[in-house]
Amino acid sequence: VSGSARLALAFEDGPDHLSTPRFLRVLERYEVRATFFVLGVQLTRDRGLVREMAASGHEFAVHGWDHRPLLLRGAAGVCDGLARTRDLIEETTGSPVRWFRPPAGVLTRAVRRSCRTLGLVPVQPERSTAFTPAAPQVRMVRLRDADHDGARIGSWQPSLAALTSLLETCQEHAVAIGPLQDLGVSRRTRRTAT
Ligand SMILES: [Zn+2]
Repeated sequence: VSGSARLALAFEDGPDHLSTPRFLRVLERYEVRATFFVLGVQLTRDRGLVREMAASGHEFAVHGWDHRPLLLRGAAGVCDGLARTRDLIEETTGSPVRWFRPPAGVLTRAVRRSCRTLGLVPVQPERSTAFTPAAPQVRMVRLRDADHDGARIGSWQPSLAALTSLLETCQEHAVAIGPLQDLGVSRRTRRTAT
């Protein structure tokens, strides 16, 4: 058991007016804030929700304009999608955006170049919800936030269940948990977490 373990909690694919509030209720119960990697197209539908979430201390980051694989797009299209999403987040929350997590984890050279152009830092949270409280380093756990297309309907329920047990474990072992911006996530840590 280590009190120095820190965990960055990240969600992706939202916001979604049906599923996201369920996650927020759990986070509120444990007084935990998180980083939400949002899709621009989802954000256009739920800007009020995101504004409220930002006001209560959650962090927002770019997941893409939509969830289509970036590999299939030209460099200009990639950059445009990331820029539009970043701008919409900043306009909605009033806070600068730092992180980018690519859909399906695919980071191409064009995507990296776009990130540099836009001042975004690419991060790759872990796919697993498994977490060892004794590990004395910052780790990121990604819990799917909301289904974003027909094929994924219902995908968020297991994440919601996993979230509750994760937060219980963290509380039990006094693990600090929060958004990436609060945890001093370094370049090295990000590589470790990939
Ligand atoms: Zn995603």
